[in-house]
Amino acid sequence: MKYILVTGGVISGIGKGIIASSVGTLLKACGISITSIKIDPYLNIDAGTFSPYEHGEVFVLDDGGEVDLDLGNYERFMDITLRRDNNITTGKIYQSVISKERKGDYLGKTVQVVPHVTDAIQEWVERVSKIPVDGNDKEPDVCIIELGGTIGDIEGMPFVEAFRQFQFRVKRQNFLNIHVSLVPQPKATGEQKTKPTQASVRELRGLGLSPDLVVCRSSLPIHDGVREKVSNFCHVAKEQVICVHDCSSIYRVPLLLAEQNILPFFKGRLGLDLPLRPGRPLSKWNELADRYDSNTSVVKVALVGKYIKLEDAYISINKSLMHAALVCNHRLQVKYINSEELEDTMREKNPVKYHEAWQKLCGSDGVLVPGGFGSRGIEGKIKAAQWARENKKPYLGVCLGLQVAVIDFARNVLDMKKANSGEFAPQDDETVIIEMPEHNPGDMGGTMRLGKRKTLFNKDKSVIKKLYGDVEVVEERHRHRYEVNPTMVDKCEEKGLKFVGRSEDGKRMEIMELRDHPYFVGVQYHPEYLSRPLKPSPPYLGLILASIGQLSSYIARGCRLSPRSSFSDTELSDTEEEMMTYQMSNALRINASH
Ligand code: GLN
Repeated sequence: MKYILVTGGVISGIGKGIIASSVGTLLKACGISITSIKIDPYLNIDAGTFSPYEHGEVFVLDDGGEVDLDLGNYERFMDITLRRDNNITTGKIYQSVISKERKGDYLGKTVQVVPHVTDAIQEWVERVSKIPVDGNDKEPDVCIIELGGTIGDIEGMPFVEAFRQFQFRVKRQNFLNIHVSLVPQPKATGEQKTKPTQASVRELRGLGLSPDLVVCRSSLPIHDGVREKVSNFCHVAKEQVICVHDCSSIYRVPLLLAEQNILPFFKGRLGLDLPLRPGRPLSKWNELADRYDSNTSVVKVALVGKYIKLEDAYISINKSLMHAALVCNHRLQVKYINSEELEDTMREKNPVKYHEAWQKLCGSDGVLVPGGFGSRGIEGKIKAAQWARENKKPYLGVCLGLQVAVIDFARNVLDMKKANSGEFAPQDDETVIIEMPEHNPGDMGGTMRLGKRKTLFNKDKSVIKKLYGDVEVVEERHRHRYEVNPTMVDKCEEKGLKFVGRSEDGKRMEIMELRDHPYFVGVQYHPEYLSRPLKPSPPYLGLILASIGQLSSYIARGCRLSPRSSFSDTELSDTEEEMMTYQMSNALRINASH
């Protein structure tokens, strides 16, 4: 097992996660099997109780683990399936150490950060790195570990110390450190500055870790002189300084790393059996990045939510829309709408905002109401669903988005004027969304219906079933406490709102679809967690296709994209092949001469 530790310097939020995922993508394209671990040095046990405003979206795994959104990036980039243990937090480590202490497992010893906490970290990493994550039983070859925060943070110290020891435990040829740092370019001088990087590498070395690669993040491409300076002052060879400037899309990052010869470096440093050039999957990334840059037709989707000030709060939804738009050769424009601003009360309170919000909604090609919790803005979401239903605008409701669509339908079609969800009003006869029996009202953490569950399609004719490839069963990830009241189902179905997909026991409504509407779909699960750049999630693809007016032709073609849209599966073209071979052989030459 080889370990690649990714640390960060200067400031957080410079794209360590994307660098880590891109390294994994590159290695995977060379046939190496990859796993990854994200370390978050906070005391929370998991991300389940976070407000999306704090850390962005809570990502949900197959096993129901509620984790940091970086694990979503790993899964999407590397096309792997992680488990809750792939996200380590200080809370989890301390919980395991303290419960061992309570059981008397330390035999009366004083329990300390070094060695007990640091040992627990190393054991956790070793154990989890061996678990297969790509659907077969083979132990992964390489584990990429991202340490959250920046070097020097008090919270991160036990982890840095654990890895200082770990490099000796697993031997040098099996451990490599990538340090991602910032090279700012202050406006006053316009010069790219290396001092912050020098300081953070010094700090890292002081803690006993030496970077094998220093990745310099910058807004513009880095000059050769700057690279040389980093090399001189940070005690690494020039080839070990990798520059990653802000790119048009994150899909460019694996290519940028490959161009700077990191594969031959890994081959030499870790003794990995790497081919001369990455395989076909990488050229698909190339295609993806080119397509992202060249699409000119725009598709506008209104995202009617509550956490709209922070884009990361809906990152998986955003990515899923993007994946779908890319395969349809469209440039995605997400119109974020604060659902409160669509509410009637806003008309008096702030008419400008009210009208702007409605203008944004009406100017969109499709509407998406994402998941959410709590009553703020709920009436605005119900209004958005009503508007999309009545005006035959494509609509996708995800989790809460399904629930608000059912509330609208009950109020305005079934004439149940007080219809609501038990989450927002006391439960009575008109409660159309009810609390699920297994919800435990005590704790807030880990008490929802979580993780991967089966949905069975019934005999009804269904667009969404076709989008899923006419399968009988789909498995998607859940995160909710409330569900459609089963006593409502017949009434809704009589009027055309069909529940075409249900849980295995038939009692839980999982997918709804409105008759006589171009696309009005709600799903109780979160399909965005399983969308991949090259395999968009079917409900999202449906929304985009309907929004650009191509859903019927797509279905008529047997759910195949037009030839121009689908990604080619043919071999590399001669020029592509030559380019790749040239880049790789050039890379090997440089490495050999070094
Ligand atoms: N708050 C709703 C529930 O608990 C919806 C949850 C969600 O959208 N993830 O059922």
